[in-house]
Amino acid sequence: MHILVKERCFTQDISQKAVMIMSLIVQKFGGSSVRDVQRLRHVARRISDVYHQGNQVVVVVSAQGKTTDQLIGQAMEVTKTPSGREMDVLLSTGEQMSISLLAMALNQIGCPALSLTGWQVGIHTDAVHQNARILQVDTQRILQQLEKGNIVIVAGFQGVDEERNITTLGRGGSDTTAVALASALNADHCQIFTDVEGVYTADPRIVPEAVKLPEITYNDMLVMASMGAKVLHDRSVELAKEKQVHLEVLSSLTEAPGTLVWGVKDGPPSMQGITADRTVLRYHLTSISLEDASHFMTELYRRQVRPDLTEQPADNELLFTVSQHHRQTVEKTLKERNLWAEADERWAKVTVVGSQLHSIPHVKQEVLSELEEAGIPFGSSWLGERRCSVLLPRDAADEGVRALHRVLLRHRE
Ligand code: ASP
Ligand code: MG
Repeated sequence: MHILVKERCFTQDISQKAVMIMSLIVQKFGGSSVRDVQRLRHVARRISDVYHQGNQVVVVVSAQGKTTDQLIGQAMEVTKTPSGREMDVLLSTGEQMSISLLAMALNQIGCPALSLTGWQVGIHTDAVHQNARILQVDTQRILQQLEKGNIVIVAGFQGVDEERNITTLGRGGSDTTAVALASALNADHCQIFTDVEGVYTADPRIVPEAVKLPEITYNDMLVMASMGAKVLHDRSVELAKEKQVHLEVLSSLTEAPGTLVWGVKDGPPSMQGITADRTVLRYHLTSISLEDASHFMTELYRRQVRPDLTEQPADNELLFTVSQHHRQTVEKTLKERNLWAEADERWAKVTVVGSQLHSIPHVKQEVLSELEEAGIPFGSSWLGERRCSVLLPRDAADEGVRALHRVLLRHRE
């Protein structure tokens, strides 16, 4: 076990014989870990083991399997332009289902458990529907229930704004709920259970040679998550770093040790992982003056949009990519400035993540040659301190990840 056990509650009887060390543990289970009755029962048994060892347990759970996607599909059948507010009311029902089912599964095996939605707990967020940020978490109700000996099951991904509208935290946001709870409750452990055994140098479903990392720093993990690694929600890593919450990512299906996410100190120049973001949008503006291009970019930055892989192939052209959830802002900004470009969805961004990549000689050249050798066409590329990203056709993304992983393996030898 990588985590040092902190003593939360230390009681000794008068004869000093019995010593009990109790921890407060936050465990988060993702959608695939609770996708059907069988998996729900399995998860309930795991939670029950930890509880019976004398720990206080708070569980955060996501919607089962593909429930969230299905709910989005249902909304789209009604309208292509649903309001963010109503989407959040709809999407939050997925987690409301899974918390109650998990509480039932625990009760069934004799564990006292109780489910709470985000608004019942008091998970307060800003009012940005579908991408809300947690501002504050009330702990009173959870602590009361823990005192009574209950396991508390909290709905991930949801909160409530100042006006008591339901909000959601962005896709994959249950991880962030878990970290926010672990920090607010000052928990001893925050464990994120998923269907892989931790954080790998690449998605092991795409790259069979991928290596499990025993540990990774917050910074490396943050770049991995924001460049498309789905294993953790990027905001959860940001929050964990800010609040110094040590995360453990591990499998809900096996007992294998997972990956510890902690530490801020960068090691020597190294490559940590390869990611792919298949949701990027690419825009190509033609006949735009240099001045207009610079004003347009400034405006996007002002609106919190960070274009990536920006290029000016000719004096009057501008190419850039943004993440899909900035589509509306980009298109609104284009319209306001009488500019026009269509979002091109045929691209993916593959990235080598690491520390001090600048200090590895010819790293960008090596990445591009490996792609060339594999016969994969590529567009813009960029090398920074912590990542080297390349734009590829979306249907070549998996092949691209495998090629970049060969580069990584050479450097990890
Ligand atoms: N159910 C939500 C989603 O599918 C949140 C999560 O899984 O963390 O994005
Ligand atoms: Mg997830």
